[in-house]
Amino acid sequence: MEEKNVYTLEDLRDWKTATAGLEKPIRLAVFGDPVEHSASPLMHNAALEQMGQAYRYARVHVKPDELEEAIKLAGENDFLGVNLTLPHKNSALRLVGEVDDQARKLGAINTVLFEHGESIGFNTDGPGFVRAIRSEFYVDVKDLRVLVLGAGGAGRAIAVQCALERCAGLILANRTLEKAERLAQEVAPYFESERLEGPGDRLQVVPWTNDRIAAVLGSVDLVVNATSVGLRRSDPPVLPAAILLPHLMVYDTIYVQRLTRLCMAAQEAGARWANGFSMLLWQGVLALEIWLDRDAPVEVMRQALKETLGV
Ligand code: NDP
Repeated sequence: MEEKNVYTLEDLRDWKTATAGLEKPIRLAVFGDPVEHSASPLMHNAALEQMGQAYRYARVHVKPDELEEAIKLAGENDFLGVNLTLPHKNSALRLVGEVDDQARKLGAINTVLFEHGESIGFNTDGPGFVRAIRSEFYVDVKDLRVLVLGAGGAGRAIAVQCALERCAGLILANRTLEKAERLAQEVAPYFESERLEGPGDRLQVVPWTNDRIAAVLGSVDLVVNATSVGLRRSDPPVLPAAILLPHLMVYDTIYVQRLTRLCMAAQEAGARWANGFSMLLWQGVLALEIWLDRDAPVEVMRQALKETLGV
């Protein structure tokens, strides 16, 4: 029997039949809705092959009201773990037996480990971002003043991770200002110094206008686009080249194109830039290391991801 491109909850309910005759059993998967687009299977299967592991990683289409049962069935079907993608990252928090401390602080899970009959939730998106910045720019987030554009799922994970790293400064901007303000309130405790009463200048929220953002760019080291602006080729860059400065590092979490609109603008402004490919890669590397408890073959995964995405 051929491996399916996408499995379903129905398949998980009768996993033996759904996977009968496969050369290698499937013991890892990504759950999402939608999930057909996920590049994770190719990246992980290349790594599993290289590591000599006799099992595979697959896609499973799991709707929001199916997640609880799907996690339970994966454990029962001898899975080592699963990745969770949209829209499951938040709701999974209450569906696993244990939650790793960092994932709890990030308020989301993207990796589940099944161990001794227990399910344990982790988050590798935030740590994956930190590794991505280090690998792209050879700097540590903790030493940087960071401007995060966007306060949705990705923006939140990145902003909270920056706070957990105790980064030198954090500025939040989001089209819907209240969301950035709420996020700032949440991370404020990480910026309270012993001497100051409140978070002081290290944490700010700026309104979503080019003028207000331009006014803070002189005191920022790293700009992160965590909005969906730029996903479509017809989108304008989230910030124009005219306001970007040459000293900046610009990280666009978008990975569907190599030279995203924002990366193009950064290049024009003489700034260093990178797209979200490295974050996608590192969240996968860290997940595999959680499941297998050994170093993952990063270069093999990078190559497989490159080929899959065509970037
Ligand atoms: P969400 O839907 O949760 O959030 C979308 C964000 O984009 C919100 O902040 C929203 O602002 C903002 N936004 C949407 N449209 C506009 C617009 N026209 N102008 C200004 N702001 C806008 O999405 P995610 O957080 O899950 O994803 C955001 C991006 O992060 C995507 O591009 C995705 O590709 C990328 N990503 C990359 C990953 C990686 O590994 N590299 C991992 C996860 C995500 P508002 O709150 O006002 O609606």
